[in-house]
Amino acid sequence: MKIKISFLPLILGLFLGGCARQAYKDTRFLLDTVCEITVIDTNKTRAQEALETAFEEIKRIDRLCGYEKDSQVSQISANAGKRPVKVDPELFKLIEESIRISELTGGAFDITVGPLVSLWGFDKHNPALPPAGKIKRVLPLVNYKNIRMDSKNSSVFLLKPGMKLDLGGIAKKYTMRTVMKKLQGMGIKKAMVNLGGDIQVRGGALGKNPWKIGLQHPRKTDQLVTIFKYNDKTIITSGDYERYFFHNGVRYHHIFNPHTGYPTKGIISATVLTDGPILADALATAVFVLGEKKGLALIEKIPDTDLILITESKKGTKIILSRGLKNAKLEFSY
Ligand code: AMP
Ligand code: MG
Repeated sequence: MKIKISFLPLILGLFLGGCARQAYKDTRFLLDTVCEITVIDTNKTRAQEALETAFEEIKRIDRLCGYEKDSQVSQISANAGKRPVKVDPELFKLIEESIRISELTGGAFDITVGPLVSLWGFDKHNPALPPAGKIKRVLPLVNYKNIRMDSKNSSVFLLKPGMKLDLGGIAKKYTMRTVMKKLQGMGIKKAMVNLGGDIQVRGGALGKNPWKIGLQHPRKTDQLVTIFKYNDKTIITSGDYERYFFHNGVRYHHIFNPHTGYPTKGIISATVLTDGPILADALATAVFVLGEKKGLALIEKIPDTDLILITESKKGTKIILSRGLKNAKLEFSY
């Protein structure tokens, strides 16, 4: 018996040496964006299965929240002003969460921006400046207070005909989390989920290295503003360079002020770094609308959550950090 035990570490050592950890990566176009998943594992089969499961999970959420006609979210919109629509408890919770963010941000974040997104053509990828009169006409349709939630029946009702939900500001971030949970459930300890630049990392990268995540320069697409190094973190960026067009030399992008119906101005990139719950993830979009002062004040109140803003005005460009990042030794090149 004793002999067996003394051999055990050697055998185990050989075993581990033979199955070094490796990175497995796959990239697919889903959720209307580039989804890239990396898992690091000793077992190739498990890693590949995990990647497959991850992409299935993304497709599943898309069927709930996506722009396709038969998604549950589209069903809610199609029945606006007519009748409540019964939805999966999961989607019900996500809409409830969205409403909470609306309340927290004084309506800066509002998933009823759908009519604006459509009017401006961002949902069909052919955006253009609409006539001011039309913007004015759809504005009364944008108000999260006109969503009726019935938890008993798990149903959602948009009170006014023409209202339309758009979960574009929260769906990717939510998916990132459910994908990471799936991976962890399959025994994957090290992973990076990158859904169109919204990123979550867990467990550190290969060896003892942290994951490295670059923050894209909002004006020079081939440059990084900084590189983050974290083992575990969620990093969400909203930028005016993601979806936009120019009209008479003015940039119009895809994040709207629900109170004016126009794209926001001032902030050109907002990055939320968090270990916290989903709520903080969706705040990058809200911060865009709230602006520098109110946006910073909001993030400072949320534990384990930080913010990097890049603003642009006639005076030039500024990088603004929340308090928690002041000593983070980040180097910026802009
Ligand atoms: P993100 O790039 O994550 O900030 O999300 C932007 C997307 O959220 C847009 O493409 C719209 O689908 C949606 N959106 C735009 N403006 C708002 C807003 N004020 N509140 C909530 N969602 C919004
Ligand atoms: Mg985004």
